[in-house]
Amino acid sequence: MSERRRPDDVDVLRGLLGPEGPELSCEACFEALDRYVELELSGADADARVPGMRAHLEGCGACDEDRRSLRALIEAGLASAPPAPAD
Ligand SMILES: [Zn+2]
Repeated sequence: MSERRRPDDVDVLRGLLGPEGPELSCEACFEALDRYVELELSGADADARVPGMRAHLEGCGACDEDRRSLRALIEAGLASAPPAPAD
C-alpha cells in the first residue's frame, strides 16, 4: 500500500452509504427492478435512467440476486417485464 489515506468520518460514512448520491431503499429498488433490467438488456444506460440503483445493488446482495434472477429469466425468454398495469 503506497497510498496514504487518513480514515475520517467522511470515509466511514461513504463506506456505509455507498459511493455516491442517495441510495434507493430495497422497496424502491424492487419497484424499479423490471425497468432497470430491461434497460440493461436493451443496452440503454440503465444507471443513468435509474439513479441510485447501481449503488444499491452493489451494497445489497438480496436485491442484486433478484436482479440476476430476473435478468436470467428475461434472457431465457421465460418471462417478460411488461409495463405496469394501468388500474
Ligand atoms: Zn436491497
